[in-house]
Amino acid sequence: MPARPGERKPLISGNWKMHHTHLDAIAVVQKLAYSLLPADYERAEVSVHPAFTALRSVQTLLDADDVPIALGAQDVFYEDSGAFTGEVSPVMLAKLNVSYVIVGHSERRQHFGESDEVVNKKLLAVLRHKMRPILCVGETLDEREAGVTETKVLGQLEADLQGVSPEAMASLVIAYEPIWAIGTGRTASPADAEAVCKAVRTWLAEHYGAGVATGTRVQYGGSVTPDNIAELMAEDDIDGALVGGASLDAERFAQIARLGQPAK
Ligand code: PEP
Repeated sequence: MPARPGERKPLISGNWKMHHTHLDAIAVVQKLAYSLLPADYERAEVSVHPAFTALRSVQTLLDADDVPIALGAQDVFYEDSGAFTGEVSPVMLAKLNVSYVIVGHSERRQHFGESDEVVNKKLLAVLRHKMRPILCVGETLDEREAGVTETKVLGQLEADLQGVSPEAMASLVIAYEPIWAIGTGRTASPADAEAVCKAVRTWLAEHYGAGVATGTRVQYGGSVTPDNIAELMAEDDIDGALVGGASLDAERFAQIARLGQPAK
């Protein structure tokens, strides 16, 4: 597989959502660690995003065996501490060696009423604690059919990245996730996914300059499987995938992490 433009190393992230107890999570990570070989980690960076209850167990396992899989969280609150019953702070995540934090996932926006303002605060909190946000943006089916996909996605970028400096952008990953493709088995065609990822990169160039645009990884997410990862990754502006359902099973996720290349 040729190097990505700007040498962007693809990032394959497994979002386990509200699945897997800490015991299940340990079992999946053990199998993943066994399946993935050094050549696979050369090709792509891999992160797993267990539920909060499994973070500590997975961290211990990754650290103990020096497994080169990055630990990720699915969400975070934006305050460091305080009377916020049920929330988890960026300080707590950073202490667990969490590297990546998903912010603005469409399920959080839809089911928990997260506005762009909240997403922006969370993103800034992640950066403040030296972790790397994976910012999710994407349109609904109605928006796609109304021809306003780019307006929606670029508008989210504008709002969610308020106050983020060009230097901080080096830590950021953007995940383009068409909402109609998440968990539906209906993947965007590689050409459609590429068109939006390219529009994201053009927006980055206009707002942050060519260096940031070339260096920022833009993932695609929405029903990614071992069968479609290779064709998605063949596109110039798609730098990996945010994977939900297919990341729950170690073998399927390992196949995706290999970017569709055969296991050696
Ligand atoms: C997701 O959770 O972000 C996602 C893309 O899910 P799925 O792969 O199941 O569509």
